[in-house]
Parts: sequence; C-alpha cells; structure tokens
Amino acid sequence: MFNSNPMVLNFIAGFSFAFLIAFISFRVRFLTKSGSIATFLLAGVIFSLGGIKWSVPILTFFILSSLLSKFRKKRNEEVELYFEKSGVRDHMQVLANGGIGGILVIINAIHPDELFYLIYLSSLSAVCADTWATEIGTWKRTLTYNILNFKLVEQGISGGISLIGTFGAVLGSFTISLSGIYWNTLHTGNYLVLIIFAGVFGSLFDSYLGATVQSQNKCNVCNKITEKDIHCGMNADYHRGLKWMNNDAVNFLSGIAGIIVILILKNIIA
Ligand SMILES: [Zn+2]
Repeated sequence: MFNSNPMVLNFIAGFSFAFLIAFISFRVRFLTKSGSIATFLLAGVIFSLGGIKWSVPILTFFILSSLLSKFRKKRNEEVELYFEKSGVRDHMQVLANGGIGGILVIINAIHPDELFYLIYLSSLSAVCADTWATEIGTWKRTLTYNILNFKLVEQGISGGISLIGTFGAVLGSFTISLSGIYWNTLHTGNYLVLIIFAGVFGSLFDSYLGATVQSQNKCNVCNKITEKDIHCGMNADYHRGLKWMNNDAVNFLSGIAGIIVILILKNIIA
C-alpha cells in the first residue's frame, strides 16, 4: 500500500522539503528560476535517498554560501564587475556545485559504503572552500596575487589568490568537515585533515585552472579582463583560455580534484 511503503514516504518528505528550500531560495534571490528548479530536483534526490546524514552538509554549504554572497555584494560592488555571474545562482552553478553529490547519493543507495559519504564530503569541501575563498577573499580590498607567478593582479580575477581568500578556503572546508563529523567513522583527526586538505587543494586547483585554461574576455570599453560576455554595456571579446572552460566547468573540476585527493590520501593516512 501507498502509505505503508517507507521508500515512498521518504520521497514525499524529501521532495516536499526540497520544494520548500527551492521556493524560499527563489523568493530571497539566492537562486534564479532555473537554479531553483535544479535545486528542487537535486535536493529532492539527496534528501529522499540520503536522509539527514546527506542533507545537513549540502544545506550547510548552500545556505551559508548564499548568505556570504549577499553580504559580499553589499560591501564590495566593485569586484562584481569582474565575475561571470552575480550572487544569484542559476541551474548550471547548482549542478556544478552539487551534481557530484546527486550521483554519489544514488550510487550509495544501490551499493551502500561509507567511502561514498567521505567522497561526498570532500567534493562539497572543495566547492565550499572555493566559494568561500572568493566570497571572503573579496569581502574587502586586499592584495591579490597570480597563483602561477605571484605577481600582483586585480582583486576577483580568475587565478588570483590572497591571504584572506585562503583563510576563507580553510574556513569553508572546516565548516563542511564539521557538518558531517557526527556520521564520521574514521579517527577524528584523520577525518578533519582529509576533508580540509581535499577542500583547500580543490580550491587551489580551481585558481590554477583560472590562471591557465579558464575562458577570459576583454572589455572593448574599459580594457578590463573579465569572465563576463557583456561589460560596460558592450560585447566583450574573447581574450584567452578554452572557450568552453567557464566558471561552472572549473568549479566542477575542482570538486573532482577534491575527490581524487581524498582517495589518494585516505590510503596513506587512514
Ligand atoms: Zn568594461
């Protein structure tokens, strides 16, 4: 019967909660319309198949990162001129940050293994570290260096790193490690080192891709290098990088980097 099947009840509860999150996020402008539809589907799958254990980390990432974006935008609007996207996240951003989690929760539902949860946390740790490095690193004006040659660059530019941004990366991955610590089955110290290292590595890898292959345009009016297609009200021309390697692709790849790092490190220390 319909109401005696716990699986069906999980799906009803999971997708109802996902609808609530997606709806509120759209109303408070955390998400665009496409972003809230993607969030409804992705969060619905994660909530219903993963329960509280898988829901807490991704909610922690999503809610705190969205709040950080809102505050950063209010404080430092100048840096907005550079970013490909505004703080309001669309469906590609949602999938770049949470798509791996959706795949992992399905694999884990078919073939449960604690390793999948650890991989899930490290991919979230990487995207959270990267997001917070940007959000906290551009909170106020600060010296920013190119990750390849340590020359001073403009704040907010792809491939730029700063002291405060790196602090943001550590804080972001530490926060994700805390969000899953209740369900951790490893030695606590090893667990924290693994998740934080995977996160910070993923975020540095993101900056590395930003400095090398990420697509960049150049504004014809103000001559600034930007991720945006339109700058100063005009079409910006292609400048360098792989054309398809946008910010979402870079975020997705840094999540993968976090996973590879944890798989290697786990065999060494845990
Ligand atoms: Zn311009």
